[in-house]
Amino acid sequence: MKKLFFLSALLTLITFLNPLRAMSERAALDSILPVRGFCIALPTPDRMDEFVKFIETELAPRHVNTLVLRVEYKYKWKSRPELIDTLALSKREVKRLLKVCKQNNIKMIPLIDLLGHQSGRGGLNMLLKTYPEFEETPAEFSNDPARLPMNGFNMRSYCPNHPDVHKVVFDVVDEICEVFESDIFHAGMDEVFDIGNDKCPRCAGRDKAELFAQEVWTIRNHLASKGRKMWMWGDRLLDGRTIGLGRWEGSYNNTHRAIDMIPKDVTICDWHYERADVTAALFAMKGIDVMTCPWRNPQAAVLQVEDMVRFRQNTAKVMKPRFRGVMHTVWSNVGTFLDGFYGKNEDKSQGDQTPWEAFRRMYDRIALLPEE
Ligand SMILES: [Zn+2]
Repeated sequence: MKKLFFLSALLTLITFLNPLRAMSERAALDSILPVRGFCIALPTPDRMDEFVKFIETELAPRHVNTLVLRVEYKYKWKSRPELIDTLALSKREVKRLLKVCKQNNIKMIPLIDLLGHQSGRGGLNMLLKTYPEFEETPAEFSNDPARLPMNGFNMRSYCPNHPDVHKVVFDVVDEICEVFESDIFHAGMDEVFDIGNDKCPRCAGRDKAELFAQEVWTIRNHLASKGRKMWMWGDRLLDGRTIGLGRWEGSYNNTHRAIDMIPKDVTICDWHYERADVTAALFAMKGIDVMTCPWRNPQAAVLQVEDMVRFRQNTAKVMKPRFRGVMHTVWSNVGTFLDGFYGKNEDKSQGDQTPWEAFRRMYDRIALLPEE
């Protein structure tokens, strides 16, 4: 009987101590790596239950504290019903995600691609389908090389100088930030190839870096007027030739000089997928907050974590807070990722070069940090 009492007391103690241990681990990680992020598409309605479970059983125990969801136009807009895409989520469904994130101390941030990425393999996105007049290059020049950067990949942009474009996009930006209850908005702005096009009656002849910076300022100022901060990808601000980056990962059309023109209070999500390039240091030295973002290369992802920690430990006091942390990115839909993560994907041709393996190993590495 005594033994039983001892055992039950021990069990009570363990149950009591476990959450305490988790709390102290989290507090330790918050000082080592403040942002521990995960970025993926908004789930489709049929994968909602699984995704909610994934947040609870995989993101929360790993102390992920930031979830960026690529919404694009897959939401049932009240302000702009003309822009509702297929498989859109309702407000109730988004609130369900938000509730589980709040319960697990995860900040949920919406992403809509602004400026570039207004089309893809499936053709035009909802914005340009609905408002073709917003396109940077008029439709009659459909084969313009600026829009087809590689193998005909379709990469259209909206014109940042069109007088009506911001009225429309800021309606959806404001609505989604309200639904997400978020004081941060991720504006995308990666891989902008069609900018300052000679065929655009408003932008022809303009400096591409100035045009890019002007659009960052416009979005940033709008968000600031509502008390919100802006996040964006970093590739257009990196000089691809000098740093040795590919055409997607760095700029070859002179937008990189915008790094000295954009507001200092945007946060850069500095993505590098094949190699742990150390460009986070460049952004931090410009006075800009930055986090590093891997995808499917586990070796690079682990190095990116270690570099970020090293930058925080070994730079001047004024630099340290600018190194915000890391965010793992997934570029498929939720279903494909979850199938891979739970071993339901039959295709093993990628070996360990998969987003789910990179996610696992990156967070395994992060879990060791408080012990070091
Ligand atoms: Zn234009």
